[in-house]
Amino acid sequence: MTETPRIQIADHPLIAHKLTTLRDERTDSPTFRRLADELVTLLAYEATREIRVEAVAVTTPVAPAVGTKLAIPRPLVVPILRAGLGMLDGMMRLLPTAEVGFLGMIRDEETLIVSTYADRVPHDLSGRQVYVLDPMLATGGTLVDAIDLLLARGATDVTAICLIAAPEGLDRLRQAFAHREVAVTVVCAGLDDHLNEKGYIVPGLGDAGDRLYGVVG
Ligand code: URA
Repeated sequence: MTETPRIQIADHPLIAHKLTTLRDERTDSPTFRRLADELVTLLAYEATREIRVEAVAVTTPVAPAVGTKLAIPRPLVVPILRAGLGMLDGMMRLLPTAEVGFLGMIRDEETLIVSTYADRVPHDLSGRQVYVLDPMLATGGTLVDAIDLLLARGATDVTAICLIAAPEGLDRLRQAFAHREVAVTVVCAGLDDHLNEKGYIVPGLGDAGDRLYGVVG
């Protein structure tokens, strides 16, 4: 039986190299944004391995042939605001015909409880494959809530693309989805050690939203 969620930690020297520069506290925001963008494109290649396709006829200058195109309904990409926005361009570069929905979710820094402040996701996701973008899988609270919302709307297959995951977050996803008949996959560039008392991933890279866009007061 397939493990749920299926967890893939990217194992590629280029990904490890870019992730190391991303972590470095001396990396400035423009460089951080560029590296996050490049990393997502590399992760997206792995994350779309099971994307649904259909056969299509194509005529080359030499002969008719059978090719492949993305199946309908088109996949939906959902960045979780704010930090997930920094992953959107890198994903859309690989999947330019996907549609995009937005989820605004924020974690209370004291209680670590997540609340949804923006929901621009189609109400009917029947049969859709959905790719959720959230750079830091920390406690897993945000991702569990986001995936629950997508499954409740009929999505059958949800893949989360993260830059860094913590073991605590992966455990929380297992608790939420292991007993359910759903296809949930997590693809990330690195699996870190633990969460600190403030819910930050250690060693991590700090606050991904702040590093992408600057500190919100
Ligand atoms: N969110 C972040 O941006 N960084 C962490 O380490 C954990 C959650």
